[in-house]
Amino acid sequence: MFPVDIGCYSLVEFPPIKAGDVLLCMGASIGVGAGLAAVSDQKVLAFIGDSTFYHAGVPALIHAVHHRANMTVCILDNGTTAMTGHQPHPGLPAEGQAAVDLEGLVRGCGVEHLEVLDAYDVKGLTKAFRRALGREGVNVIIARHRCRLLELRDMTKAGEKAPLYEVVPERCTKCGFCIDAFACPGLVRMEDESVVIDAALCSGCGVCADVCSPKAIVRVKEAAP
Ligand code: SF4
Ligand code: SF4
Repeated sequence: MFPVDIGCYSLVEFPPIKAGDVLLCMGASIGVGAGLAAVSDQKVLAFIGDSTFYHAGVPALIHAVHHRANMTVCILDNGTTAMTGHQPHPGLPAEGQAAVDLEGLVRGCGVEHLEVLDAYDVKGLTKAFRRALGREGVNVIIARHRCRLLELRDMTKAGEKAPLYEVVPERCTKCGFCIDAFACPGLVRMEDESVVIDAALCSGCGVCADVCSPKAIVRVKEAAP
């Protein structure tokens, strides 16, 4: 079961991914997840963003650990409050204030199994989720990667351009995985089931190249115009 929280990742609830089973209110995913874990033998994987975690997730994590919930929590740490306009949060230094260390905060809640991975590391995260879901107690995975919009902003300021990706038609098997399961809006299915990348919607993150088994998605050598 997948309790989700308030943030851009709330969209995971909608087709085609449909991986959000419960979306109650801001900060509720961990508490709802602990409740579901107590009354069900299903695996529970709760998602919460870094900003929401600082704002309203910490008390629920303390209680989940205290009540020995069997669940995994994934903190999606993009280093900002992206959905409402990139406001800062306590995980970022500001006006002479040191940042509140996220890993230290999680461990301080009593969590013993904590892993931190790059959110773009698909293979590493897959293994980490399997490890965590095979364990008892509260397990936490921090999937960390700076918000792509902020990365693109930094690139523009530095005079750099985002990488460009394309689908090699001869390699594409038209399996549909990138559309039906991965579902980045930059990937577009054509009438003949082939896939192309819409440059206007692509941020050049490159994750689709990792999820395409036939290696049909490749980085274009020259930078985007
Ligand atoms: S996952 Fe790769 S091979 Fe499958 S449809 Fe997408 S681009 Fe084509
Ligand atoms: S490179 Fe990133 S943004 Fe572009 S289509 Fe692939 S996954 Fe989507």
